[in-house]
Amino acid sequence: MGDGIQTLHTWERSGLLDDAWSRREFLKFCGRMAVLLGLSDAFIPRIARALETAIQNRRPSIVWLEFQDCAGNTESFTRADSPSVAQAVLEAVSLDYHETLMAAAGHRAEEARHKALEAHRGQVIVVVEGSIPTKDDGIYCTIGGKTALQIIREVEPYALVFVAVGTCAAFGGLPKANPNPTGAVGVEDVVRTKPVINLPGCPANPDVLMGLLVHYLVFNRLPDLDAQRRPLFAFGKRIHDTCERRPHFDAGQFALAFDDYGARQGYCLYKLGCKGPETYNICASLRWNMQASWPVKAGHPCIGCSERDFWDRFTPFYERLPEVRAFGVEQRADRLGGTLVGVTAVGVLAHALYTWAVRRAERKAEELAKKEGEAKPNPPEG
Ligand code: SF4
Repeated sequence: MGDGIQTLHTWERSGLLDDAWSRREFLKFCGRMAVLLGLSDAFIPRIARALETAIQNRRPSIVWLEFQDCAGNTESFTRADSPSVAQAVLEAVSLDYHETLMAAAGHRAEEARHKALEAHRGQVIVVVEGSIPTKDDGIYCTIGGKTALQIIREVEPYALVFVAVGTCAAFGGLPKANPNPTGAVGVEDVVRTKPVINLPGCPANPDVLMGLLVHYLVFNRLPDLDAQRRPLFAFGKRIHDTCERRPHFDAGQFALAFDDYGARQGYCLYKLGCKGPETYNICASLRWNMQASWPVKAGHPCIGCSERDFWDRFTPFYERLPEVRAFGVEQRADRLGGTLVGVTAVGVLAHALYTWAVRRAERKAEELAKKEGEAKPNPPEG
């Protein structure tokens, strides 16, 4: 951790590389990252080496700015899968400024930011959480006497890339919803000279942010993006195409109330307002909380929180999507006993396949850890 934050945490930096248990967990984490990034098991040692190098030598500087936000992405990130996950990435980067996490306050906090920017000019990974108000010269969000807009302008020359984490930073989110009283916009609308990567979601899945950082550390470049600047490894597929309830959709089996027979049977939630057919994200495969669950599995329709202008386009949340001609959803939803089950065989298996790949990568990582342990010389007796 950087100077501004290290007083808050007590994680030891040596554990990941030396301690046997931590080492195994570290390699398993590398395996999970390989699966997330769509890489083969053969990349596990390479990911491990890249993280080790970063931990020991060249920890990239991260400056995390919060503007019109609820800190939900910070909450999500600090509650990532297990301590070893957050530990692995947070030790490989230097989190030099983060208003919510850092112990320093006031002028000392601002000094920490300036110090990090000056020390890593052109190389700082700037994470932004929250939207940026532009109305009335941006007066609706000020930090240390400067507006969010001024802070972005100040930081931009020092940045390598901006990572807009969460839908507010990516697309303006809730603050931008009609009538948008503060003139809120996303990072991509104000940053002019540096690349912007969008990781939308309310909140964004913390593993996706970690995957992005790991990709940069391993390949020394940013991942491929879609037209909305979202990494393809996480936003390349529709939720509808990877959802475990998809066979019910194709069979015309829908829950019509949250407590009806269909809901209890795990039927499709489309007629309760599910926005999965219009939403691109990795939720159905990756899930949350150690891959335990995600909203649709828990019985709640997807509200499309990672899509642009979702508050305006997708509310009321519990009303069925209007006809979506591009996807033919309405037509399919009304075709009882449809014939598309074969089409979705891959979709319904998405999580199972993902989990299988993760378990396989973890087993490979355990083998690697065992081999490393066997190759180590025994400690001298006495
Ligand atoms: S409409 Fe929603 S619940 Fe139904 S299959 Fe699509 S994503 Fe899953």
